[in-house]
Amino acid sequence: MVMDSKGGRQYRGCTEDSGYNRQHRPRGTQTKPLSIAMTDSAPAPDSSDAIARDIAANIAEQRLPPGAKLPEEALARVYQVSRTKIRSALVMLAKDKLVDLIPDKGAFVSKPTVEETRNIFFVRRTLEAAMVRQFVARATPEDYARLEAHLEQERQAVKDANMQVRSSLLSDFHILLARIVGNEVLTDILEKLAGRSALITMLYQSSRDAACSHEEHSAFIAAARAGDADRAVELMEHHLLHVEQALMVEPPSGPRKDLLRELLS
Ligand SMILES: [Zn+2]
Ligand SMILES: [Zn+2]
Repeated sequence: MVMDSKGGRQYRGCTEDSGYNRQHRPRGTQTKPLSIAMTDSAPAPDSSDAIARDIAANIAEQRLPPGAKLPEEALARVYQVSRTKIRSALVMLAKDKLVDLIPDKGAFVSKPTVEETRNIFFVRRTLEAAMVRQFVARATPEDYARLEAHLEQERQAVKDANMQVRSSLLSDFHILLARIVGNEVLTDILEKLAGRSALITMLYQSSRDAACSHEEHSAFIAAARAGDADRAVELMEHHLLHVEQALMVEPPSGPRKDLLRELLS
């Protein structure tokens, strides 16, 4: 974290080395088979809930890339359960925006577009900047204690490199701020927006940028705790802009194979 010494309030954070939109991360996990039903030791998940979690993990690891079709029949065979169980797992995933259910076509791994991403972050920046002022005015020492505990969980998740857990914790930070402000309408809207951003970051955020996000959350809390509302707003605006810019939302360069279908053929 860098403070501008020339009296300016420019916050640079970790923007400079984040390498956003320049480097492509190697997707080392792409060639791995689905974890499901592939190991002898662990039994395949068989409840809708567990199946949904397993599919979510595969989406997070990009073994099921954005846009991949999720045929019920094939999944039922892989997990060795009924199609009804698969269907309810897919409905759960659709609620979390991880899967799109298209009538007459079936289920697909969600594929957020550049435009959708921009729109989501535009709205978030606007709402959250306003929220920060209220937050700074209202947060109590107990609230800060809760946030510190949350930051500790984030730190651990960033270290563990579990993309799914990491993305949802980084996203929950913002929801927690909204809850503390106590505006239910705002919390509700932000939950939806942050949920959609969490999916996008899970798919497109590098570990390094996730670590930056965590650092920026800590810097934000420090400024808010010191009662510096202007600085806190600035840090939040920078943070959301940084997260957005560091995402590599772009179509894959070549035709992707449908790994699930390939596995089952
Ligand atoms: Zn930054
Ligand atoms: Zn954040």
